[in-house]
Amino acid sequence: MKLYELSIKEIAELYRKGETTPGQVVDGLLRRIEQLNPKLNAFLSVDREHIADQVQNAERMLKRHDASPLCGIPIAVKDIFATNGIRTTCASKILENFIPPYDATVIKKLKAAGVVIIGKTNMDEFAMGSSTETSYFGPTRNPWSPDTVPGGSSGGSASAVASDMAFGALGTDTGGSIRQPAALCGIVGLKPTYGRVSRYGMIAFASSLDQGGTMTKTVYDSALLLETIAGFDPKDSTSADRPVEPFTNLLSSGLNNVAIGVPEEYFIEGMDGDVQRAVTQAIDTMKKLGAKIVKISLPHTKYAVAVYYILASSEASSNLARYDGVRYGYRSEQAQNLIDMYKNTRAQGFGREVKRRIMLGTFALSAGYYSAFYGKAQKARRLITDDFNNAFSTCDIILAPTSPTPAFKLGSKLDDPLKMYLSDIFTIPLNLAGLPGVSVPCGFTDSGLPVGMQLIGKQFDERTILNAAHAYEREMQWFKKKPEIH
Ligand code: GLN
Repeated sequence: MKLYELSIKEIAELYRKGETTPGQVVDGLLRRIEQLNPKLNAFLSVDREHIADQVQNAERMLKRHDASPLCGIPIAVKDIFATNGIRTTCASKILENFIPPYDATVIKKLKAAGVVIIGKTNMDEFAMGSSTETSYFGPTRNPWSPDTVPGGSSGGSASAVASDMAFGALGTDTGGSIRQPAALCGIVGLKPTYGRVSRYGMIAFASSLDQGGTMTKTVYDSALLLETIAGFDPKDSTSADRPVEPFTNLLSSGLNNVAIGVPEEYFIEGMDGDVQRAVTQAIDTMKKLGAKIVKISLPHTKYAVAVYYILASSEASSNLARYDGVRYGYRSEQAQNLIDMYKNTRAQGFGREVKRRIMLGTFALSAGYYSAFYGKAQKARRLITDDFNNAFSTCDIILAPTSPTPAFKLGSKLDDPLKMYLSDIFTIPLNLAGLPGVSVPCGFTDSGLPVGMQLIGKQFDERTILNAAHAYEREMQWFKKKPEIH
């Protein structure tokens, strides 16, 4: 087995035994990135100078006996997290040349642990999309089948991890952007409870929904990364002041006495047959492992996509008002006066999907329509949250497919926004309720594309979903199968 094929846990063990070094591991990855990135377009930037400094630093830190298990591990970061001195674009023309003067809190935490930030990954522009096709820098491809999408918006991170160009990655999930690409690329994607991971330095899309999280080859690695990036941050007003549990130590408790709820509303007509089969088999496996399966109902699920697009677009229209060509980012040169400068900058700097959301959100918030749209959506959000609370009175975890379909062909949904929006029908409800969810590989379609299932937990109960995901992963070991990409 090649070094780059290993998990974070395995590399960390080799470092401890002195069998390899961060320098060797990083060199191997950089060669792989050189070979594969032109085909996959998963990375937007790989800054060799910064990498060399980080490697040296990690090698020094590793000599200390208290070095973090993440020390010297190369991790990719979605290009939505501010990285000091390294270009951060959010895959938009408007931030094409933006170099942040500070690090996001999660980046600071990774650096303190000695992580090597190997590069910044591609995404849908401002995280708006489910396919990584709205990136200003061109689409990312899925390593399992390069004419299909990797999912989105964290598609670059998913493609990089699935093709062994990084041992793990950070993503963000506003309506599914960690879990859906993880499912489509056959990796583990964890969206923590809202407030668990600091949003400081994470470029805002919809602030009441945005949450950073992890994308890794195994569940253990997700638990390890979560331990490092989670925690209270006074710089984020919605950060939760909760202790961070030692998630990796809590992974072995099995599934006896765990009640898993299966919502009837998540097995819908029109769902892909292979996905349905894989998830149904996974439910049987969970039963075999000792879990109790209970039927549950989440009756307001049908409103979730509509509610999300009103709330997320409204928040986006306000958050994206800051890109006006004055303070930072792109500025149109073809304007005679200030108003034209604003208009031209935004008209030229944003892509079509971003403009669509800004218009949708501005309309939903406008005088006279506010209570009909935004106010109503807030009320429906409450009902969706109550659905989950009711369900959790009879179960500990909810199990559902992550995405209704496996990876779809590039270009097949780009001209039909509604079709694209429906890709997130199973992932959006828990963002509205602020709950944690993890997508784990649960098999393959007949044509060899990965399928993912989602385990949804109670607020701040990442521990229970990670444990269940780990028990399932240990039984099935889907992660051992790798895409054939050269
Ligand atoms: N696909 C959804 C959207 O386009 C979710 C994106 C996300 O989670 N960032 O808004």
